[in-house]
Amino acid sequence: MNSLLVACSDGRVAPPLDDLQRRLHIEDADRLLVPGGPLGLTRTGAERRVAKDAVSQIVNFHDIRRIVLVSHQDCFAYERALGGLGFDQQRILERDLRRVKADLEHDYLGVTVECYVIPWREGAEGAAFGRAELVI
Ligand SMILES: [Zn+2]
Repeated sequence: MNSLLVACSDGRVAPPLDDLQRRLHIEDADRLLVPGGPLGLTRTGAERRVAKDAVSQIVNFHDIRRIVLVSHQDCFAYERALGGLGFDQQRILERDLRRVKADLEHDYLGVTVECYVIPWREGAEGAAFGRAELVI
């Protein structure tokens, strides 16, 4: 089954993305890596058209049956787009993921959409990204 991973281009989340692909056994998934990942699909105007067109090309030409959306905390693209994420970032990310999932499932019948968030954790050894967690 062909899969598409939509995630942020931020290199800091590359390791958790690789880990997620291994866990889901989709190492060969197509990847759409843009600032903010699914964020572009929540925007309006040209930004949204470009994002939707990219997804459409991949889904239609590669017969994609599974889309994995991944957002992450501490995302610069989100901060720039929304003027800051503050303490509600998890809620904002989940709200957007829900919206994009509903949109994509409407646009592409028979394609399953899963949503993950990569958390930013403060730990004993300093702050770092954790493992991607399924949210929807
Ligand atoms: Zn990001």
